[in-house]
Amino acid sequence: MSRRVTATIHLDALRDNLARVRELAPGRRVVAVVKADGYGHGLERVARALADADAFGVASIADGERIRAIGLDNRIVVLSGIDEPDDLKAMRSLSLEPVVHHDSQLAWLEADRDPSPLRVWLKIDTGMHRLGFPMQRAAEVYARLAALPQVAGRIHWLTHFARSDEFDVSATAEQTVRFDAVIAGLGGERSLANSAAILGWPATHGDWVRAGGVLYGVSVIAGRTGADFGFRSAMTLSARLIAINSVARGEAIGYGGSYVCPQTMPVGVVAIGYGDGYPRHADSGTPVLLRGRAAAIIGRVSMDLITIDLRQHPEAAIGDEVVLWGPQLPVEAIGERADTIGYELICGMTRRVDFVERDDADA
Ligand SMILES: *Cc1c(COP(=O)(O)O)cnc(C)c1O
Repeated sequence: MSRRVTATIHLDALRDNLARVRELAPGRRVVAVVKADGYGHGLERVARALADADAFGVASIADGERIRAIGLDNRIVVLSGIDEPDDLKAMRSLSLEPVVHHDSQLAWLEADRDPSPLRVWLKIDTGMHRLGFPMQRAAEVYARLAALPQVAGRIHWLTHFARSDEFDVSATAEQTVRFDAVIAGLGGERSLANSAAILGWPATHGDWVRAGGVLYGVSVIAGRTGADFGFRSAMTLSARLIAINSVARGEAIGYGGSYVCPQTMPVGVVAIGYGDGYPRHADSGTPVLLRGRAAAIIGRVSMDLITIDLRQHPEAAIGDEVVLWGPQLPVEAIGERADTIGYELICGMTRRVDFVERDDADA
């Protein structure tokens, strides 16, 4: 097939990564965060692979609906809760659990006359300053929620960390102390930790950890990959070598002529570009893998194509598969070259990328 760009999703890696989270946070329950279409891996396939999770975390009711549509009955937390009163109907009919983070949502719940039960997660802002009730309101909001006849079971307390990826900075410990102080003496279950906190802040593991990135094998810890913490990359992005040209010494490659050939040299052209989701900001020197060995991008990434230095690859042949990231080439390293993080790259595959599932447990 012409111009085949493939994102291969490793289902066995997803499962292994969930098991690794359980190893790192023993005895805690796991919310597998599958927002943004399962961090770009495909929501349904990720949810099926992670069906062993205690709950799924999604960003929208529509995502919850997609998980129910494939027959999974795991608990599902909608991380930003309801956006309008009518959303409560959908929450109930799909058995979704809203996060309550704002007065508007509390008012809609209090005005709601449907007696059928609803589990809720109460979010407190301990320093992230994005979503959540201020700490001094925690007891009051808790009491108001607990008094509602339709609120079922124990309230789940939630807070989110701003800097848990920085293991040598005290912000996470401070947020944790504040969170513990706020909920002291109040009932309920606690959830604080995202991926970075699962890795570096065991005191934050609480009752429920919320694992996103590490389930896909990706770390946001500077200079460290998911593999460094025992996780496996769940996506291989690959494309084809479609041309090999000899370019003369002194000639410049591609738009803007940013790379000038230091000698007459073979230049490979690979059919992938920012139109597929490969980052345009990946600079000359960014590695790709050709027959398992690193080759460097030279010149600018364009919409459909990249160019690579083949001086060390005399064996290269048209049709060869080129890997842009995957188990042997961490997406975190590509993110660093492109001034972003691995998370953004894995979430960014466009519609023309073919997704293929692979399960090495089947092999
Ligand atoms: C996205 C998200 C997570 C998961 O974060 P990771 O860094 O991917 O583990 C956890 N909690 C909330 C509230 C989130 O929005």
